[in-house]
Amino acid sequence: MRYIVFCIAFICSTSLNFIFAQEDTLSTSIKIKLPNTNLFVKDAIIEEVEIPIISQSDSIAPIDIKSEHWDTTVYNPYRNTLVQFPLQIKFTDSVFFSPVAHKKVITSRYGWRRGRPHQGIDIDLVTGDSVVSILEGIVRFARYSGGHGKTVVVRHYNGLETTYAHLSHIAVKANDTISKGGYIGKGGNTGNSRGSHLHLVASFKGEYIHPEYLFDFSEANTIRAQELWVTHEWTRARFHNSRRVSKVNLLKTKEAALASLVKQKKVYVVKKGDTLYGISRRNNLSVSKICNVNAIKKTTPLKIGQKLVLEL
Ligand SMILES: [Zn+2]
Repeated sequence: MRYIVFCIAFICSTSLNFIFAQEDTLSTSIKIKLPNTNLFVKDAIIEEVEIPIISQSDSIAPIDIKSEHWDTTVYNPYRNTLVQFPLQIKFTDSVFFSPVAHKKVITSRYGWRRGRPHQGIDIDLVTGDSVVSILEGIVRFARYSGGHGKTVVVRHYNGLETTYAHLSHIAVKANDTISKGGYIGKGGNTGNSRGSHLHLVASFKGEYIHPEYLFDFSEANTIRAQELWVTHEWTRARFHNSRRVSKVNLLKTKEAALASLVKQKKVYVVKKGDTLYGISRRNNLSVSKICNVNAIKKTTPLKIGQKLVLEL
């Protein structure tokens, strides 16, 4: 750093007219434009030189992720912890590592499924396929856990936890540090599972977040944003259907997250053939919520032309 400062000081003192310096906090180098001929000649040709920044450590404060709720014996150590919404999650990476080596086929999504919440996504695999950690972190839990079967939970340095369930073999132990793409174990069909697959969960302080709100599971493996705000809508399975892709509307600031909480009302006019179930599904609302808002029962027959208030 001292070298860079020296260079800039030297160049600035020589000729201010030709110097343009730019420093991006995320980049690992600094670019400076220099004239390649006599500094005092008008219209000199400007060349760009790049000076690498060796250490950026002073800009990232280390966080001790093991300081709170670090329990290697329970799946969710945050039980009974009150969390304030919206949740802020920051990422330093812009891409994650695919948990499986092959093309990811999602067989079931986060959302309501067979009358129960499905709090992760299912990625197809063959028993024995390698499973790796999507980001770096520390293994918080590595053992058999009821319906999840053989399970590994990794806590990442931003506080997010990812769970890898139904494994056939666990290759890590609690408190192991793990790199992004680091081997966790082999995929399988242990616990309450219908066929071999990876059940991948994303959680923050015990709140199970819709993984597709944070991560794009296409081949790009991108993290949706460097800063994301998570509302209840993205931590409750009942707002989603495990068989359908949920529309992702990213909330990148606290203001946007708070604004999204203001309920929007829409009036829907009942058409021929409409059912409460159909209207609820199309609008991502539960039947009981529509009934509550409109003071009707689930069994009340709908009339064509009837107006229903939908709180979106
Ligand atoms: Zn699952």
